[in-house]
Amino acid sequence: MENCIFCKIVAGEIPSPRFYEDGDMIVIKDIEPKAKLHYLCIPKTHFALLSEMDEEKAELLKRVMKKIPELANGVLGLSGGYRMIVNQGADGGQSVPHLHIHLLGGETLTGF
Ligand code: 5GP
Ligand code: ZN
Repeated sequence: MENCIFCKIVAGEIPSPRFYEDGDMIVIKDIEPKAKLHYLCIPKTHFALLSEMDEEKAELLKRVMKKIPELANGVLGLSGGYRMIVNQGADGGQSVPHLHIHLLGGETLTGF
């Protein structure tokens, strides 16, 4: 998708170190971390909202979700636990309209 910053990162047009990559997604660190460790799991397929999910995208997200605990306990260093956030639309505070999963941890998170 043209002018999508996450598509550009996925394509390698904007360099960003990858902590994990497979056919479905990349995992990078958030440029403005909200916790000691703050990763973004970015599916390689462009779509903005869960409401756009068809069967293919549902399967993609299923594989991504199944992979996250394994990564958290391994390369991402989140074995103590983590918070998973998916912001949706304007009221959800979504600033990049390419669906992504925030993983926050590396410390004990307080508040909501
Ligand atoms: P959203 O607000 O859409 O849920 O999350 C977008 C996130 O992407 C924000 O936390 C923001 O800091 C992060 N972000 C925006 N641009 C870049 C970038 O170029 N590189 C990285 N690593 N993170 C970015
Ligand atoms: Zn995109």
